[in-house]
Amino acid sequence: MNSSKRFGARYGATVRKRVDKVESKQKQKHKCLFCGRFTVKRLSVGIFHCTKCKKKFTGKAYWP
Ligand SMILES: [Zn+2]
Repeated sequence: MNSSKRFGARYGATVRKRVDKVESKQKQKHKCLFCGRFTVKRLSVGIFHCTKCKKKFTGKAYWP
């Protein structure tokens, strides 16, 4: 019981750290898989759009 509680707290801290990383990554532009330019914007969770070649593609939740 005690160990699972400890794991929960640790997991929460890890997630918070990961969210920080994710948010800083979101400010960057992403590299397009099709034209290779850093013109990809995140439209919503898992959906990305390249402003250069106008392609839409899905990725992981936060970056391609
Ligand atoms: Zn592109």
